[in-house]
Amino acid sequence: MHRASCSLYDIAVIGAGINGCSITHELSSAGKRVILFDENGIASGGSGAAGAFISPKFSKSGELKDTLHDAFLYSMNFYEKNFPKLLRKSPLLHIAKDELDDEILCVYKEKTSLELLDTERQERETVSINAAIVNAKPMCEALAKSAKFMKLKVESLEYDDGLWIINEAYTAKEVVLATGAYKTLLGESYIKLRGVWGHRIDIKTSTQNPHSIHQFVSISPSLNGELAIGATHNVHYHPQTATEIYDVKEGRAELLEKASRSINIAEVEVIKDYTGLRSGSFDYMPLIGPLVMSEETMQDKSINFYTKKPDFKEYSYYPNLTMINGSGGYGFVLAPYLAKLLSEYILSDKEISPRLIPARFFSRWVKKV
Ligand SMILES: Cc1cc2nc3c(=O)[nH]c(=O)nc-3n(C[C@H](O)[C@H](O)[C@H](O)COP(=O)(O)OP(=O)(O)OC[C@H]3O[C@@H](n4cnc5c(N)ncnc54)[C@H](O)[C@@H]3O)c2cc1C
Repeated sequence: MHRASCSLYDIAVIGAGINGCSITHELSSAGKRVILFDENGIASGGSGAAGAFISPKFSKSGELKDTLHDAFLYSMNFYEKNFPKLLRKSPLLHIAKDELDDEILCVYKEKTSLELLDTERQERETVSINAAIVNAKPMCEALAKSAKFMKLKVESLEYDDGLWIINEAYTAKEVVLATGAYKTLLGESYIKLRGVWGHRIDIKTSTQNPHSIHQFVSISPSLNGELAIGATHNVHYHPQTATEIYDVKEGRAELLEKASRSINIAEVEVIKDYTGLRSGSFDYMPLIGPLVMSEETMQDKSINFYTKKPDFKEYSYYPNLTMINGSGGYGFVLAPYLAKLLSEYILSDKEISPRLIPARFFSRWVKKV
């Protein structure tokens, strides 16, 4: 091992999607020496495939809606202030899919504090707001710029004498796991993330579309005769377990058919396909913060695991190790906001909401085991 000859980093971030790159940016901006690892390159997972629309969640109520509302406002401002060239502002039309959606959007419109734009009357209920699209891969690259980047698969993580040793070669005082829907490195069974496969196509078309449209799929506004169509809804396909290769042709046809239910797209030529997994948690809320060491915690006889109000402070945690993950279809909306919360936790020990910390899954899981 060449550990002794390797320089010491303040923080090692594993995974260079939008989550890993956002926390890298926050911590580097605070003066920390950050090393960022990704086995396939920056934005090579779900983040590279994303349409990267920045929008709130159009639902009636709930924790996820509230979190996404805050994240939407924070992230629009963050991207515009720090990376204005990589953000394209445009009005978004969110159109209901069916009658149930009509009702949800009606309630949303009554309750929201966001400014609503006038829309032409559509067959279905429609909400229009000022929103934006991020240029996904260049944004991840820009966020990661001030860190040392290593294109390397992290295979081992070991804590020794107050430091994390990565692949027996790199040392860091802190580790942040941002590995998306790919296998978690620690093998803690209470962390269950669901990978949902998505496909986006960039097409050339003679149709001019002035706004983003979200209905059955997401459609971007036109730029130089091109637009993007994307969706993440294939819960059955996983590249690490699938026995057959994903059928790109079939995926394209499905995207175009669904897009055509919202607008007429003429003279289509598909220029590029992007595919990837997005990772979501089982309660749909993102996961940020420290990780419970399940074995050590379960051995602590003084903890009552059956209480309805668990005290997460009683649990044992991996030292100087956190995660940022589980953003579902909203990674680009959530990442700057979550990275801010996580960096405040890492740098100043500021508490993270129990709605967001991974310990909530441990407290549910431990009752079953
Ligand atoms: C088609 C599509 C459209 C989408 N549209 C939108 C949208 O419009 N708006 C929006 O906000 N979100 C959208 N999303 C969701 C968004 O892309 C995800 O929420 C986001 O990419 C999650 O980012 P992440 O950093 O958590 O994961 P990822 O981007 O998947 O990054 C994880 C990275 O970790 C690396 N990694 C894993 N294990 C290791 C290891 N052991 N060693 C080294 N590297 C490792 C992987 O190579 C990968 O690059 C879309 C997703 C898809 C697929």
